[in-house]
Amino acid sequence: MSALFELTFVCNHACSFCYNCPSGQREMTTAEICDALRKLAEFNVLYLTLSGGEPLVRKDFFEIGRAARALGFAIRIYTNGYLIDQAMAKKIKQIVNPLEMEISVHGAHPQTHDKLTCVPGSLARLIEGVRHLRAEGIKVNLKCPVTRNNQDEVLAIERLAGELGAHIQFDVVITPRDNGDKDPLALMATDEFLEKYWNDDAYATARKERVPQPRRDAPGEAVCGTGRSGLAIDPYGNIYPCVQLRRKAGNIKELNHLQEMWATSPVLIEVRKTAVDVAQRVLKESAAGDQCTSFCMGVAELQVGDATAMYPQAAKNAEFRKKAHANWEVEQNETAGDAGEVLGKRGA
Ligand code: SF4
Ligand code: SF4
Repeated sequence: MSALFELTFVCNHACSFCYNCPSGQREMTTAEICDALRKLAEFNVLYLTLSGGEPLVRKDFFEIGRAARALGFAIRIYTNGYLIDQAMAKKIKQIVNPLEMEISVHGAHPQTHDKLTCVPGSLARLIEGVRHLRAEGIKVNLKCPVTRNNQDEVLAIERLAGELGAHIQFDVVITPRDNGDKDPLALMATDEFLEKYWNDDAYATARKERVPQPRRDAPGEAVCGTGRSGLAIDPYGNIYPCVQLRRKAGNIKELNHLQEMWATSPVLIEVRKTAVDVAQRVLKESAAGDQCTSFCMGVAELQVGDATAMYPQAAKNAEFRKKAHANWEVEQNETAGDAGEVLGKRGA
C-alpha cells in the first residue's frame, strides 16, 4: 500500500532528538532512485512518502518528484519547511503535485522551535513555507513531537496551525536514535503534563479524542502495519518493514522486483507474526495494555531490546489514558445518577 523513501540523511537542521544515523555509505544516485521508484510502481505501491533527512536539499529532488508523479503515486513529502519559498512552493505544486506535505514544528515561538532545530530563523521560515504551500492549495499537516521544552506551547501551536490553515498532529512519544542512543528520551514530556494532556478537555482537539478510548483489536489483528501494509527504504537502498523497525529485509538496488522478497523475506514474515502477537497477547497481558495506543515495536526494540516488551513511555501513556477514561466513566455515572434522581423525584 505504501512506501516511505528516505532520499537522503543530509539535513539543514540539527534537531537534538533526530533519529537519523547516517553510516557514511554512498547515498543512491538519481538513476538508482528512479529505478527503485519504478520497482515500487511495478509492485503496485499506492502511497509514496518522500522523506529524509531533508529531502528538499537534494539537487535532484524535482527530477525524482517528476519521475514519481509520472509513475502515478499518491505522494506525500516530509520536510522541515526551511527551503520552501514562493518559487519552491509553485514548483512543488506544478511538478510533484503532492497529496499533502508534512512539516515538523517544535514550538509556537522561535526561542523554542529554533532552539531545538539549532537553526536561528527556522520557525519564521517554516511559517512562510506553510503560507506559500497553502497559497498553492497544497494540504499541509504539521507534526509536533511534544517534549518537555514545548509542552506548555501545545495549545499555542494548535492555534498557530489553525491560523495557517494547516492540520496539526501531536505525538507525545519521543523515539531513541536508530543506533539505539537513548539520549533523546531525556526530552520526554513531564508526567504532570502527560496527565493533563490525556485528561484535560482543553487538550481534546490536540489529542483528537474527547475521551481516551480503549483499543478494539479484532481476533488475529496486528498492532500496526509493519511489514504488512508498507515498507521503508533508506538512502542506501536498504528495505525495512517500516521506518522505525530497522531490520533489513533486502536492498532495492539488488532486487529485480519486490514480489519475491515481500513473500519470502524471513524478516517480514517474522515481524508480521510479532505484530499480531503484540496485539493479541502482549497488550492484553499488560496492565494498561487496552489503552496502549502508541505501542511501537521499533521503539520497544530500541528502548528495551525486545520488540514485544512493554517499554516505559508506552506504559506511562497507557496508564494516564486509562486513568482519564476511568475519570470520564465516573462522571458519566454521576450524571446518569443525577438524572435518575431528578426523574425519580418528578415521578414521585
Ligand atoms: S529536520 Fe528531521 S531529519 Fe533534520 S535534523 Fe531535524 S529531525 Fe533530523
Ligand atoms: S507503530 Fe512502529 S513498528 Fe509499527 S509501523 Fe509504526 S513505526 Fe513501524
